[in-house]
Amino acid sequence: MTPDIETIIIGGGVVGLAIARRLAVLGSETLVLERHERVGAETSSRNSEVIHAGIYYPPGSLRGRLCVDGKKQLYRFAEENGVTVNPCGKLVVATSEEDLPGLETIAARATANGVGDLRMLERTAAQRMEPELECIAALHSPSTGVIDSHGLMTALEGHLTEHGGQVVLSTEVLGIARDSDGNYAVTTRSGDNDSASSTVITCRNLVLAAGLEATQVGNLLQKDWPDGYAPPQTYPAKGHYFSLSRKAPFTHLIYPVPSGAWLGIHLTLDIAGQAKFGPDLQWIEEVDYSFDDPDGARRRTFITEVQRYWPGLPADELQPGYTGIRPKIYRQGEAPADFTFHGPKTHGLANLIALYGIESPGLTSALAIGDHVADMLFNRSD
Ligand SMILES: Cc1cc2nc3c(=O)[nH]c(=O)nc-3n(C[C@H](O)[C@H](O)[C@H](O)COP(=O)(O)OP(=O)(O)OC[C@H]3O[C@@H](n4cnc5c(N)ncnc54)[C@H](O)[C@@H]3O)c2cc1C
Repeated sequence: MTPDIETIIIGGGVVGLAIARRLAVLGSETLVLERHERVGAETSSRNSEVIHAGIYYPPGSLRGRLCVDGKKQLYRFAEENGVTVNPCGKLVVATSEEDLPGLETIAARATANGVGDLRMLERTAAQRMEPELECIAALHSPSTGVIDSHGLMTALEGHLTEHGGQVVLSTEVLGIARDSDGNYAVTTRSGDNDSASSTVITCRNLVLAAGLEATQVGNLLQKDWPDGYAPPQTYPAKGHYFSLSRKAPFTHLIYPVPSGAWLGIHLTLDIAGQAKFGPDLQWIEEVDYSFDDPDGARRRTFITEVQRYWPGLPADELQPGYTGIRPKIYRQGEAPADFTFHGPKTHGLANLIALYGIESPGLTSALAIGDHVADMLFNRSD
């Protein structure tokens, strides 16, 4: 039987939209199914909006490669489509002698990842750039910036619709089955409880880009996965942000030297130049976006961490902000996982690509992820 549509993407976050846009531009008839009433309502609107340079990730990793490629594409796409960016640059700062080897490691990784524009600064040079900064040395990354993530998603959706694709909102995928022709039958529920309706749509190609729900959506295919394959488990890890109620005296993003895979409590600017601090790292059992700080311990930790590089922080002007949740596919204490794309060579089902563990730098990498998934689908690479 001919399927209803060529390609379905499950998940209308920035990554699902970037994949859909790429497939539509390549001529595939593409539909995005998103359970919320707007695109990007989950992780894609609960992040730092930083365009990462690609300096932290292991050389050769997908996170490193797709970040560096995605960054270049993102600046170009933003310029061509009127999406606001601020290429403000960032300083990774050493606040003690023990931090210095960490700066050297980042500089070496950046070079290995093809990011050749970093510059090591002595204290005085860093303070000329940011007079209120306290540090003993810093690494300047000029290609780091911030982007209006909502503007980006609107532009991606615009390209998708221009090329005949569509995003269907308020539509949750509840079931997936593979039929005897190798097509996928996707069962959806649309609307609220009282007026909910169920529909089955068939497609040739299926992309699972469900973020924090990646494992659950993958498990919908449980009966079809060949023996021995199961989707990786997702372990959510929450990050809290505090915001500053007045303008901060910084024009660059300020990051401490990272501790393991966590980048530390950094200062980022939104597109309007307003400062926020975070995210911290809290492993949680279930997805829950609440901002909890009942005894003020979180606030005290933030103040201590930020004062290492900004002693003048007006602590009474820190306000609880928002939270975001990383869809990690490794447990606390385990080695960080790379971006994970499972195609036919991994799971055994043709024309199906499943994404897992697309945490940071997923926003920066989105356009390059679009290319990567298109390549896996159409060039049958894995
Ligand atoms: C705290 C934090 C800070 C970050 N900061 C940065 C940063 O500064 N720079 C950067 O590059 N990256 C950053 N990231 C990473 C980046 O935000 C993510 O990699 C990116 O947003 C992932 O997009 P996505 O489309 O894969 O996931 P999501 O945005 O989560 O989208 C998945 C979508 O799938 C939908 N969905 C799930 N199940 C179903 C279903 N059954 N039916 C229909 N729809 C479904 C969901 O509703 C959701 O909208 C950060 C992440 C976090 C958590």
